[in-house]
Amino acid sequence: MIYTENDPETIKAIEKGIPIAELEKRMKKTRDIYLGLDESLVQVIVEDHHTMQRLHISYELLADVVEALTSNQQKQYIKPGYTGIFTFTEVGCPWGCKTPDEFYSFAGLNAFILPEKYFESLPNDEILSKEYLDLYENVIFNDRKPIPDVLRLSPVSAHLIRVHHFLEGRESPYRMDSKKMIECLILSGN
Ligand SMILES: [Zn+2]
Repeated sequence: MIYTENDPETIKAIEKGIPIAELEKRMKKTRDIYLGLDESLVQVIVEDHHTMQRLHISYELLADVVEALTSNQQKQYIKPGYTGIFTFTEVGCPWGCKTPDEFYSFAGLNAFILPEKYFESLPNDEILSKEYLDLYENVIFNDRKPIPDVLRLSPVSAHLIRVHHFLEGRESPYRMDSKKMIECLILSGN
C-alpha cells in the first residue's frame, strides 16, 4: 500500500483504532517527545514513506537492524567511523501496544550512534575533553532536542518502524532520519 496524505485508507492504517488527534496529543505531551508541537503525524509518516521508497529501504530491514542494536548492542551494524553508547531504559508505545510478554513498556537499550571523532582524545587523557563531556551530557542526560550528527534509538524504535511505519517527527530527539541511518548504519542493500 502506498501512503497518501488525504487518503482515508492511509489514515486508517496509521490510526489502528486510535484517532489521529488523540495520538498527536499523546506524542506531544509525553516526557518522550515523539512529534514536535507543530508537526502532523500523518504528514511525517507519509513523507518518510516516500523517502524510504525512493531510497529502496524496507521498514522490515530498518526495524531488524534497530532491534539488533537496541536489544543486544550488535555493533556490527555500525559503520566504520561511528560508535555507540548504550544505556538501559524502558519506553512505551504511543499507540498503547503491548510487548510480546504483555508489558506496556518496551525494555532494552537506548543506543546513541555518533561519530568516533568525539572519542579521539579519550584513551590517553586523564582528564576528559570538554567537547566529550559536553557531548556526553547532551546525548545521555539532555535528550530533549535533536543533535545533528547523533542518531538516538530507543527500545521502542524498532516497534515504531515495524508496526507503525513511524520514524518520529523532525523535532523529536529520537527521530530516525533515513538518510542519517544510511550514513552511520550498515543496512544490507546499500
Ligand atoms: Zn505500537
